[in-house]
Amino acid sequence: MSGDAPALPGPGDYRDEIELDLLGRRVRLLELSREVSEQMPVYPGHVKVAFWEHLTHEQVRRQRLPPDSPFAGYAGRGLVASEHLSTHVDAVWHFNPERPDLTIDKLPWEHLITPAAWVDVSDVWPETHITRARLERAFGEAEVTLRPGMTLLYYTGVAEHWDDPFRFLAEYPGLDLEASEWLLDQGVVNVGTDAVSTDYPGDLTYPNHRTHAKRLVVHTEMVANMTRIPRHHGFWVLFFPLRLVGGTGSPARAVALWEVGEE
Ligand SMILES: [Zn+2]
Repeated sequence: MSGDAPALPGPGDYRDEIELDLLGRRVRLLELSREVSEQMPVYPGHVKVAFWEHLTHEQVRRQRLPPDSPFAGYAGRGLVASEHLSTHVDAVWHFNPERPDLTIDKLPWEHLITPAAWVDVSDVWPETHITRARLERAFGEAEVTLRPGMTLLYYTGVAEHWDDPFRFLAEYPGLDLEASEWLLDQGVVNVGTDAVSTDYPGDLTYPNHRTHAKRLVVHTEMVANMTRIPRHHGFWVLFFPLRLVGGTGSPARAVALWEVGEE
């Protein structure tokens, strides 16, 4: 460690963007996951999140510890939630009834830790389609070339309505069939969006979910902070869904990583 290295943060010093040494490189890490709270927007029809105090320090002290124990006890909360809560990865099994084997716990790491690119399609009107032509224009503007094994993140702009759940859960566009097929033709292994779904809510033909079902590719919804990634390519994403056995999906911690000073 060099002499001018900043002091290590103390307990509770969480920041959503940090710089650190990793594998011999100086990198920046940006949080891409949403918080999990009882206030957060939840996809219509899915179970909301509920926490409860399952054990308090006092309960443990008075019910489980001897009166002369020097230990102050421990606290723990219970949790009920949808598998599709907050920033989450959808397993293939979620939208393909013929593949109960492709649950979230079976997803290979190589589809979760990948080079990535992001594009801005926030001018596309909510509740309409993002077309292949619009994507290709976005790739041209961002000078992005997709390669097999990459993750593509696309920004619809609905993230700006995070604090207004009714708008956040309704006012976003979705990928059409041709755009969905074309992305997978480039070898993309994961498609991420800031919206709560890759298909807009009024589109009950689910072109993106259907395409991913057929081609056995996953996607990740409610990706946060996408526009804070300072380059459109040349960064990595890391998603960590829980190993929910049989899971249709899982909330995931997600980060972007890029090398500092590399232009
Ligand atoms: Zn989902």
